[in-house]
Amino acid sequence: MQTGGACGHIEAIDDVKQPARRQCDECVKIGSRWVHLRTCQQCGATLCCDSSPNRHASKHARASGHPVIASAQPGERWLYCYPDEAFCQY
Ligand SMILES: [Zn+2]
Ligand SMILES: [Zn+2]
Ligand SMILES: [Zn+2]
Repeated sequence: MQTGGACGHIEAIDDVKQPARRQCDECVKIGSRWVHLRTCQQCGATLCCDSSPNRHASKHARASGHPVIASAQPGERWLYCYPDEAFCQY
């Protein structure tokens, strides 16, 4: 991916993983709600954003060490790397 030097994690991504289902799997388990969705680019898990009460995507990134998420919102085309705080539109 052409990133303009975002970071090595983002540059290593060829195909952006899209959400299998538009839901936060962890919120569904606990009956919670979410605001926006993000898809982990390492394992494909779709989880909720930092504006959501449970912030499952960043919890997942910290717990698993999976660095990069993509927005799973329709019409949004961007990637974010947690450890490098790098942002990239594609
Ligand atoms: Zn990175
Ligand atoms: Zn969630
Ligand atoms: Zn993951």
